[in-house]
Amino acid sequence: MDEYDVAVVGGGPIGCYVAEQLALKGRRIAVFEEHNTIGEPTHCAGLVTQRVLDITKCSQDAIVQNTIYGAIIHSPAGALLTIGGNNIHALVINRQKFDEHIAQKALNAGAAILRNHKVIAVKKQRSVITLDIQQDEQMTPVHSQLLIGADGAHSHIRDSFGFPQPIEKLHGISAELSDSTLDPKYVHIFVGSTIAPGFFAWVIPTNVQGTTARIGLCIGKHSTHPLQYYYTALLQQPLLQGTTVMKRFGGTIPLGPLKKTAVDQIMLVGDAAAQVKPTSGGGIYPGLLCATHCSIIAEEAFQKQRFDEKFLRHYHAGWTKEIGRELSLGMRFRSIFSHLTDRQFNKYIEKLGTQKTIDTINTYGDIDYPSRLVLPLLTTMPSLLSLTPTMLKHKNK
Ligand SMILES: Cc1cc2nc3c(=O)[nH]c(=O)nc-3n(C[C@H](O)[C@H](O)[C@H](O)COP(=O)(O)OP(=O)(O)OC[C@H]3O[C@@H](n4cnc5c(N)ncnc54)[C@H](O)[C@@H]3O)c2cc1C
Repeated sequence: MDEYDVAVVGGGPIGCYVAEQLALKGRRIAVFEEHNTIGEPTHCAGLVTQRVLDITKCSQDAIVQNTIYGAIIHSPAGALLTIGGNNIHALVINRQKFDEHIAQKALNAGAAILRNHKVIAVKKQRSVITLDIQQDEQMTPVHSQLLIGADGAHSHIRDSFGFPQPIEKLHGISAELSDSTLDPKYVHIFVGSTIAPGFFAWVIPTNVQGTTARIGLCIGKHSTHPLQYYYTALLQQPLLQGTTVMKRFGGTIPLGPLKKTAVDQIMLVGDAAAQVKPTSGGGIYPGLLCATHCSIIAEEAFQKQRFDEKFLRHYHAGWTKEIGRELSLGMRFRSIFSHLTDRQFNKYIEKLGTQKTIDTINTYGDIDYPSRLVLPLLTTMPSLLSLTPTMLKHKNK
């Protein structure tokens, strides 16, 4: 029977990153991935910041398809608000290549990456974890001392060991387009009840010519129509006339980071722990930050031979200290955002369109840390304070 120090369930970017870090420390580690190909199927718009490449030490050349300088926000009434323009604010990555790259780094460090290995069941008995792995028609048991659940939004590990659930799960739909005629420097964001109720829709140019794009949207739980309805509405936007859909995909975004991410011998990380920015649905950067804490505590657990919940809770404390406040504030901003009516969107998008507020957004806006914009923006535009009752009302949710 195969035995490992650490078993990671899920060969996404977060699981493979943890595996690389622990393999570099000499731990025997295996990543179990149910699909045959790392990075497939893709469920991602691929918009990240340079921080993601810095953490993973991925070179731009292999991964980055385009650089984004600004955003054009479309109000429900059709008014446009353009922000940014002078500096790079985000990178568009080829998500499959990115995932493959991180998996390859884990392999190079000495981790085993086992594709087409689906974890069907996990048991804890006398300090040993036993995983039942399905490969083709065969079932094989595998043992490990520590288990890391990096198995995404629908985490089986989270559900099997009584971890709390994310507060919300957003459902998304996305597509790759060709024949677009976009300004490659700008993403487009659409808000409002007829296009993406409870969240937003996006159009992201994926090459430097603006001739290919990734589009998509997520909707909140109070949407009146199915996803397909809003997807059709997005495709009918004048901006996308004449484009061709090359590929479609869907996905789930878990929001509201879990209050508990470690129990005896098990830690959850990435989407499995809903370590996702609630304002944008981006999970790669916060997931990687948390994965760093996860691998540090896992290594310490081996050094001290402490795999109990009390010790592994240091992981929870570590990531919460680093990014917990930002994610919690993000949930409050999301709460305000998801309660805005189309009239309010129209009003605020119009009000934000002064040179002074745009300058403030350009100076302080950061897609990884949206809270850094709040105080400067409230100072520039005090009328936004009228939104704080909604924020306080949802403080404890
Ligand atoms: C529509 C959409 C757009 C997005 N856009 C962005 C974006 O622009 N920027 C950004 O930062 N984030 C974005 N995200 C979020 C991002 O995709 C996730 O945060 C990220 O993939 C999380 O990585 P992960 O490794 O935790 O999970 P995943 O990437 O989901 O990987 C989990 C892996 O576990 C495997 N697995 C699951 N169960 C088992 C099992 N039982 N046995 C074996 N393997 C298993 C799965 O096959 C999968 O490969 C988007 C998400 C969606 C849905």
